[in-house]
Amino acid sequence: MAREPKRAHIVTFGCQMNEYDSELMAGLLEGMGYQLTESLPEADVVLLNTCCVRESAENKVWGLLGTLKRYKRKKPDLIVGVSGCLPQQNGVAEEIKKRFPVVDLVLGTHNRHELPRLIDEVREGRGPVDAVLREAGDIPEGLPVRRKSGLRAWVPVIHGCNNFCTYCVVPYVRGRERSRRPEDILKEVCGLVAAGYREVTLLGQNVNSYGRDLGAGTDFADLLSDLDRVDGLWRIRFTTSHPRDFSEKLIDTIARAAKVCEHVHLPAQAGSNRVLRRMNRGYTREYYLELVEKIRAAIPGVALSTDLMVGFPGETGDDFEDTLDLVRRVRYDQAFTFVYNPRRGTPAAGWPDQVPAAEKSARIQELIRVQKEIGLARNRAEEGRVLEVLVEGPSATRPELLAGRSRTNKTVVFPGDPKLVGKLVWVRIEQGQLTHLVGRLQPES
Ligand code: SAM
Ligand code: SF4
Repeated sequence: MAREPKRAHIVTFGCQMNEYDSELMAGLLEGMGYQLTESLPEADVVLLNTCCVRESAENKVWGLLGTLKRYKRKKPDLIVGVSGCLPQQNGVAEEIKKRFPVVDLVLGTHNRHELPRLIDEVREGRGPVDAVLREAGDIPEGLPVRRKSGLRAWVPVIHGCNNFCTYCVVPYVRGRERSRRPEDILKEVCGLVAAGYREVTLLGQNVNSYGRDLGAGTDFADLLSDLDRVDGLWRIRFTTSHPRDFSEKLIDTIARAAKVCEHVHLPAQAGSNRVLRRMNRGYTREYYLELVEKIRAAIPGVALSTDLMVGFPGETGDDFEDTLDLVRRVRYDQAFTFVYNPRRGTPAAGWPDQVPAAEKSARIQELIRVQKEIGLARNRAEEGRVLEVLVEGPSATRPELLAGRSRTNKTVVFPGDPKLVGKLVWVRIEQGQLTHLVGRLQPES
């Protein structure tokens, strides 16, 4: 009787870059003969691809490792791996091995491509394997990637970050900025289009500094222009843009490049100059507001989203009011809101003027309330408009309806034939809700 294929399950925490890394590790596992499974109890290999940007993501990993301890008692051959940003922090890999003997393999952000060799080492009984590298090496190209969608693909263009915002752990766990060569990116995108993908999202902690380290004179705007010429590609998105590095050339390129979607994710973090300075963000609220005006003037109908943080050390009630004021002035389509929490190894974690938890909680609730009103009003303003939608599949919450995304990155649901999945259609918006738009297919679609 044929032996059942071994199964692997990956749990992903954190940002899009981690989602991409998981897709890459899924591709590598498939290459080893593993079948991917959505069911953790069925798996022979469980990989936790972790995040340490916020405490909540970190705590979930500790909880899951406790659960895996119980699974492993029933299934002693189970291989448990921990990858990503958490073990990349100084001392954390050692802590994981000490606290959780259930873990067979720890690897960081710099060598996820070595997963097959490391799993073989564990299988050969050489565990627990600690394979965290302190330095990033060259970016490996041409690895297999098992993407979740057949239509939309993540494409990293720059790894790491040089910004050292005082609250953020990313530069310590992802290393310095390393851009992929434009020809490698172009080749990957052409390959994706040939395989039927129609939309790419270019990823980086700060895509706007793309190319600086290559010394070849290519910048992010040039990359967008090159990709805009790829036949068969319909849509280009990108995230994240650092406001400080958003050049006029980039604004102009987004405005001109037909495939680049009208959506900019522009993390503000705070609306108070004092807080922005202490965060080491490198811009003022006046600069930010002016940038928003320039973007809106050059790119009609552009949607803006942002990341905002409350309770940064030393943030006073007045500072927080400045953040609310910024939100009211910009009127974001969407905002991801975070409560500051100290991250080990970052400067702000050691500052004495930490904001009490109750204060942070009151501020985040107020911020969410204000943004909800604005987000809903902006979605209602879409009523009556006809939007181009790339149909992705059945709606997650109402499977009898189709769901897709507008160029402005709004989720649009509407009744329609499932044969439309993968197509561009026109939808007249009938109702703007908090999280999505509801519409009706236009006859010419
Ligand atoms: N590179 C992006 C930028 O500069 O906007 C963001 C990367 S970070 C993974 C995503 C978001 O997490 C940040 O924009 C910030 O709002 C939030 N974040 C980072 N460190 C944090 C901390 N210590 N506490 C709370 N939120 C944090
Ligand atoms: Fe973190 Fe700042 Fe780099 Fe974004 S730009 S990843 S917030 S250090």
